[in-house]
Amino acid sequence: MNILILGGGGREHALAWAIKQNPKCDRLIVAPGNAGIAMLAECADLDILDGAAVVAFCAENAVDFVVVGPEAPLAAGVADATRGAGILTFGPSAAAAQVEASKAFTKELCAACDAPTAAYARFTEAGPAKDYIRAQGAPIVVKADGLAAGKGVVVAMSVDEALAAIDDMFGGTFGAAGAEVVIEEFMGGEEASFFILTDGTTCLPIGTAQDHKRAFDGDTGPNTGGMGAYSPAPVLTDAIAAQAMARIVQPCVDELARRGTPYQGVLYAGLMIENGQARLVEYNARFGDPECQVLMLRLGAQALDLLLACAEGRLQDYAIAWADDHALTVVMAADGYPGTYHKGSQIRGLEELPEDSFHMVFHAGTAERDGQVIAAGGRVLNVTARGATLAEARARAYAMVDRIDWPGGFCRRDIGWRAL
Ligand code: ATP
Repeated sequence: MNILILGGGGREHALAWAIKQNPKCDRLIVAPGNAGIAMLAECADLDILDGAAVVAFCAENAVDFVVVGPEAPLAAGVADATRGAGILTFGPSAAAAQVEASKAFTKELCAACDAPTAAYARFTEAGPAKDYIRAQGAPIVVKADGLAAGKGVVVAMSVDEALAAIDDMFGGTFGAAGAEVVIEEFMGGEEASFFILTDGTTCLPIGTAQDHKRAFDGDTGPNTGGMGAYSPAPVLTDAIAAQAMARIVQPCVDELARRGTPYQGVLYAGLMIENGQARLVEYNARFGDPECQVLMLRLGAQALDLLLACAEGRLQDYAIAWADDHALTVVMAADGYPGTYHKGSQIRGLEELPEDSFHMVFHAGTAERDGQVIAAGGRVLNVTARGATLAEARARAYAMVDRIDWPGGFCRRDIGWRAL
C-alpha cells in the first residue's frame, strides 16, 4: 500500500523507519520530511494544515493510508478531511483532538467519567482567578487553556508567582490560547507517559516512557521540548498501568464515544504517580517526541499493523508481540537551544554509524546541503538504541553519540538516570 505520513521531525522519522520495514508498505511519502527521512522515503512539499490540499495530494499519488504525526493538523481537522474523502487515516478528528487542544475540555471529560486528576477551576477574568488563587494558596498550577507549545503552564511555588502568571495570561502573552485559564491543584509524585492506541472502543496499551524536559544534566536549566527519553518507564508498573486503563483511559474513551465524537488514534496520557496511584496530568492526541522514537525502535515493523488495526477498527483482535527489551534516545541539540541557536552547522560521522534494529539515529531538525547533513533546527538528532537492559541501551546510545562529529551541538550525558 501507499502511505503518507504528515510531519517532519524525529517522531515522523521513527514512524517512517518502522513502517518502511513492513512488507505491506510499497510507497512511503512523508510531508514535509527532513534529511534523515529522505534517506528512506520520498519527501513532499505540502501544506499539511490544509485538509483539502492533503486530500488532493492523496488522490494524485494513490495514497491508501494517511498517518498524522503532529497535533497542529489534527486540531485543524486534517484527519476529518481525509477520512471524509474516504481515505483510511490514523489520527483523531478535530472534535476528539480537543483532549489536547483544550485543557478545560479534558478537565470536564475527566469530571464526567470520574477519572482521577487534579482538582481545578476555570476562569475568563483575572479578578475571580486571583481570588481563587489567594483562597487556595501555593503551590498551585496556572494553565492557558489552548495550545501554547508546552509554554502555557506555570507551576507556581508561591501565590505571587501564580498571580503574576494570571496577569501574563490575561495580558495576552499566549494570544487566544490564554483567553481562558485553568487553575489546578498541585500534584506531587513522578511523571510518566503512557501510550494507548484506540479505535474508539478498544484500548490497547503500546508502551510507557519517561522523558527529560530540562536542557542540562541533573534536570537543570530551561524547559525544552524534551532532551531524551526511555521506555519502558519502571515507575509505571503493570498494576498502575492497569489502574490507569480502568479508571482513566477506558472511561474517557467511552465517554467520547458516547458523545458521538469517538477517539481514533494514539492517546498519550501524561500521568502523575504517587503512592501507587496514577492521576492524569494531560492528554496529547499524538505520539510524544522523542518518546515515539523509543517506542518505534521497540515495536519495529509491527507498528504499521498496529496503526492499520487502529484505523480500521480491528484492535479488539490484535495482540502485540512484546520483546522484553528497553530503548533509550539521546537528543542532540544545537548550541543555544532552547534559546536562540545557529542553523547550518555541518554534522559529520553519521554514515559510519550502525543502523539496525538496535541502533538508529532519527533526524529531528536536519537538512541536506551539497550532499552534507546540516543542522536546521533546535533539536537536531535523536540517537536511539535498544538493549536487553536499560543500561545496555544507554551504553549503545552514548557510544553512537561519541562518534558523531558536530562541534555546534550538545546533549545531556545523564538520560535515564532516574531509572538506573
Ligand atoms: P507539554 O505538552 O509540554 O507536556 P502542556 O502545555 O500540554 O505541556 P501540561 O502537560 O498540562 O502542559 O503541563 C506541563 C507540565 O507541568 C507537566 O508535564 C507537569 O510537569 C507540570 N504540571 C502540570 N499540571 C500539574 C499539576 N496539576 N501538578 C503538578 N505539576 C503539573
